[in-house]
Amino acid sequence: MANFYGHFTTGVVLGAAYGAAGAWYGHFDWGVVFLAGGLTAIGALTPDLDSDNAVPLRELFSLVGAIFPLFLIPRLRRSGLSLEQALVILFGGYLVIRYGLLAVFKKFTVHRGMFHSIPALLIAGLAVYNIYHHDEWRLRAYMAGGMMLGFLSHLVLDEIFAVDLAGVPRLKRSFGTALKFTSSSWLATGVCYALLLLLAGAAWTEKRDDDPFRIEIRPGRLTEGLLKKRW
Ligand SMILES: [Zn+2]
Repeated sequence: MANFYGHFTTGVVLGAAYGAAGAWYGHFDWGVVFLAGGLTAIGALTPDLDSDNAVPLRELFSLVGAIFPLFLIPRLRRSGLSLEQALVILFGGYLVIRYGLLAVFKKFTVHRGMFHSIPALLIAGLAVYNIYHHDEWRLRAYMAGGMMLGFLSHLVLDEIFAVDLAGVPRLKRSFGTALKFTSSSWLATGVCYALLLLLAGAAWTEKRDDDPFRIEIRPGRLTEGLLKKRW
């Protein structure tokens, strides 16, 4: 397999190009451009969340745990929560991903299973599209596109090259285990496609004003007055 740094370097280079393209053609501001570029770099690492190599795995989960809750901010702002309540949710999201999800992944995923597949690539893109809330769907698609570009770069690299630290590419033996549509496990394949359908359905049915994923938490009476100050 291409190693952690090989994937990361590729993701950063692609992210820079993707960000530049967004600024040039999409006229997006620097915040959007850097975020999408960063997502490309994260996307390039994401398939190896199924890896059993402890150190890169912990780094990956820390990174994903820190970044993904931040995409909830637009939703949290709309939901009328106070800043403190929003921070609790963001920090809780980090803990759930960094410790809870990591433990689940270690137990249930197989390296080069369905995480290295085309449906997983689509799931990653749709997850970003659904989590990142914005009235402008093109912005959401741009973010999702960054994620998928990075993810695709990982699959292609895994499929063809093993990039060692000296940067010398060499052919590897496990050809055909990354860019695939199904795995040998029917359960993993089934769960993967079910999740894909669910996320695709959520993205398809979501309307601007009537968002099914919108977090509706009613503030308590005591904090209602405080909430009038927007954060
Ligand atoms: Zn991989």
